[in-house]
Amino acid sequence: MSTSNRKHIALISVHGDPAIEIGKEEAGGQNVYVRQVGEALAKLGWQVDMFTRKANAEQAAIVQHSPNCRTIRLVAGPEEFVPRDNIFPYAAEFVEQILEFQKESGIKYSLVHTNYWISAWVGMQLKKIQGSKQVHTYHSLGYVKYKSVSTIPLIAKTRLDVEKAVLETAESIVATSPQEKVHMRQLVSKQGNIDIIPCGTDIHRFGSATRAQARQELGIDPKSAVILYVGRFDPRKGIETLVRAVGQLQLRGKKDINLIIGGGSRPGQSDGMERDRIESIVAELGMTDFTIFPGRLGDETLHTYYAAADVCVVPSHYEPFGLVAIEAMASGTPVIASDVGGLQFTVVPEETGLLAPPKDDVAFAQAIDRILSLSPTDKENMGIAARKRVEKLFSWEGVAAQLGDLYTDLMKSKVPTPTPVKPQPVSA
Ligand code: UDP
Repeated sequence: MSTSNRKHIALISVHGDPAIEIGKEEAGGQNVYVRQVGEALAKLGWQVDMFTRKANAEQAAIVQHSPNCRTIRLVAGPEEFVPRDNIFPYAAEFVEQILEFQKESGIKYSLVHTNYWISAWVGMQLKKIQGSKQVHTYHSLGYVKYKSVSTIPLIAKTRLDVEKAVLETAESIVATSPQEKVHMRQLVSKQGNIDIIPCGTDIHRFGSATRAQARQELGIDPKSAVILYVGRFDPRKGIETLVRAVGQLQLRGKKDINLIIGGGSRPGQSDGMERDRIESIVAELGMTDFTIFPGRLGDETLHTYYAAADVCVVPSHYEPFGLVAIEAMASGTPVIASDVGGLQFTVVPEETGLLAPPKDDVAFAQAIDRILSLSPTDKENMGIAARKRVEKLFSWEGVAAQLGDLYTDLMKSKVPTPTPVKPQPVSA
């Protein structure tokens, strides 16, 4: 299909740059989602422009990922890393920059897919200004998040207002799990259209190595019990629960454990404090000898770590979806996850892994012990069931096809009469 025949779609992710390295500072699932959805949509015939905020003067303004998919970095606010709670004041400038980009390129986006609440606000302005239709994915709900944190940021009220307004005015909200949809209805609003389309994963990359190969490559003893965490270093990820759970197994005399805690930046970056905190708990519990912090796991090695593990643990306090769980499952590795949010959708207890109450290190210790004590055949069968579930429900190709169908339907539907957008602070 030539570029001119392709339908243009804008994916907007103000704070989650789809072109940067994943796993450090705040870069995580949202960045992966936008990038993978974008690339898969381009393969399906769309012309995909992914807009994000330029967070470093050295970054290229445009990164071409494939002939029909690119990341466009707009200057809105300082060209440096700004934590997501402080980005909203630059959202109005971001809107202006998109309009400017449209003018210069001659492209007008009739549909925008926004990600996270800051981008939701941007999409709502584009709807007001030029009638763009809006699809929105939350990635995290303020209503859920603020229930579990002790200090509520100043931006909370604005965030909650925007989250409610976008649910009531967007053409479609994409919930990534049935659990997320229930939360939206219970906590945000009874009005608005919600479609359930899950997150996906690369089923070709994950699952391409056997356990024996992976362990050889990483220099891990084939007989040791490998327990793996992958993700950002953020207190809400519950890494402490995992460390304390493994500490209990050690006290009970469990031998030959390898605990691998992957992800995170070097000291001095925004997630360094949590990494220091976790490392000090590991030291306090006398677990330094068998705990490894390999740092951020890049594209070349991540799949090898998943394949090498006996079990992958996702101890988050809350997770709207949780990509790590399906990446491990795609790799044939059972998952023990917190019994919350999207993890209740991806992990099928007793079949593809186990669920345990969040923050409950005793329950996590029991669950890890149970998986490690399974016979090799039972463990392998659990891994096979996990892989099958991902192949059936969570491939990026399948997810992008569902999103593409949704966009097509929405683009065909008549231009909506101007939607009553709740008054928002116009200067963000
Ligand atoms: N990730 C990575 N390398 C790391 C740590 C994390 O590539 O060292 C990726 C991980 O594979 C997953 C994403 O970051 O794709 C995390 O997504 P998830 O939905 O699990 O959590 P979030 O970061 O959105 O809270």
